[in-house]
Amino acid sequence: KQPDPGIALVKERLSSVRNKLLVLSGKGGVGKSTVTSLLSRCLAANNPDRNVGVLDIDICGPSQPRVLGALGEQVHQSGSGWSPVYIEDNLSLMSIGFLLSSPDAAVIWRGPKKNGMIKQFLSEVDWGSLDYLILDTPPGTSDEHLSATSYLKGAGITGAIIVTTPPQVALLDVRKEIDFCRKVNIPILGVVENMSIFICPKCKNAAEIFPASSGGARTMSNELNVEFLGSIPLDPLLARCCDEGKNFLTEMPDSPIVSVLNEICKNI
Ligand code: ADP
Repeated sequence: KQPDPGIALVKERLSSVRNKLLVLSGKGGVGKSTVTSLLSRCLAANNPDRNVGVLDIDICGPSQPRVLGALGEQVHQSGSGWSPVYIEDNLSLMSIGFLLSSPDAAVIWRGPKKNGMIKQFLSEVDWGSLDYLILDTPPGTSDEHLSATSYLKGAGITGAIIVTTPPQVALLDVRKEIDFCRKVNIPILGVVENMSIFICPKCKNAAEIFPASSGGARTMSNELNVEFLGSIPLDPLLARCCDEGKNFLTEMPDSPIVSVLNEICKNI
């Protein structure tokens, strides 16, 4: 069987992208898109000479246009491909959300059509030269993951970041994500635990939300021999920033979340 010519196209297009990262989660709603947006904003903000791109391949539930504040933007075709939307001078985004007629439009596609879209995204977006391309994926291990990993085979994947919440059910799914990465030979950069504790916006005190599973993500990471990258607390102000597409890092520069993000960015 001939290899898919898309693999060579993707390799060529991404030859000017240094690190290609996948953000994965076993379940929906654990904060994968939030963490993707925060890490990309943090990587870009910490070094103006660094170029960061975000590719939202959550075909059925694209959230990056909203959380990165680019709802309603349009992407343009040029001679050199699709131009992404610029969030900052050194932070760009491509998402299927930009190609839909309205934010409420449902994408009801079977595997082959999703596969074609991902191939186009990976081979036709003109990112210019990037230090990081961060792929926001749907929850689980589905068509989108298989398509992305097979098209990225030639270009190479730097590694995956796995996002989870503390409860055991989410952690069980993380084990599957780790197993997936190992089966398809994707290095695992580490696990990020989200919504570990709640910081009251009024009194600033911290409370455990899931006391029964406290420390579970760290323990599991140790047990499975993967890096534990850090814990991000639940903060209603973060949820609000994401809903409104605002930059949490500049809105709340003194938040402990920003320190956690800076630490994570040093390790990826
Ligand atoms: P996923 O991409 O895993 O489906 P999202 O990133 O869309 O999850 O997050 C689900 C919801 O939880 C969103 O409304 C988001 O704003 C909120 N959220 C995620 N992480 C946090 C956090 N650390 N603090 C407060 N709200 C959060």
